[in-house]
Amino acid sequence: IDADNGAPTIFDKIISKEIPSTIVYEDDKVLAFKDVNPQAPVHVLVIPKFRDGLTQLGKAEQRHGEILGQLLYASRIVAEKEGILEGFRVVINSGPSACQSVYHLHLHVLGGRQMQWPPG
Ligand code: 5GP
Repeated sequence: IDADNGAPTIFDKIISKEIPSTIVYEDDKVLAFKDVNPQAPVHVLVIPKFRDGLTQLGKAEQRHGEILGQLLYASRIVAEKEGILEGFRVVINSGPSACQSVYHLHLHVLGGRQMQWPPG
């Protein structure tokens, strides 16, 4: 588990393709790839290619509004590509008490099974 110390994370190596991943969607600003430890039949991570201070959602500033919207819309594209548009969940863990483990903002797109509410 990383700390939010501004250091590079494993996601930088995924963006640069030094570490392989199964890419589901990519554009100039956003990368979406399958989670290595899936918590549902579909589990995709959606990340900004340029972290720009967004180690966690809790650090977001006004200037991040555009990329935050792009990430949310990319989640919908991922859900459609993965065939779960009928029902899916988007989760952002922000900070240690939310169990964030990689300090590069990411949206989890989960689906393909009945989800439970409330989450643990
Ligand atoms: P967090 O707990 O920070 O919200 O989520 C981090 C996610 O990144 C976890 O679900 C974990 O399985 C995933 N992850 C960590 N390292 C890698 C990796 O090297 N490749 C991929 N595809 N996913 C990773």
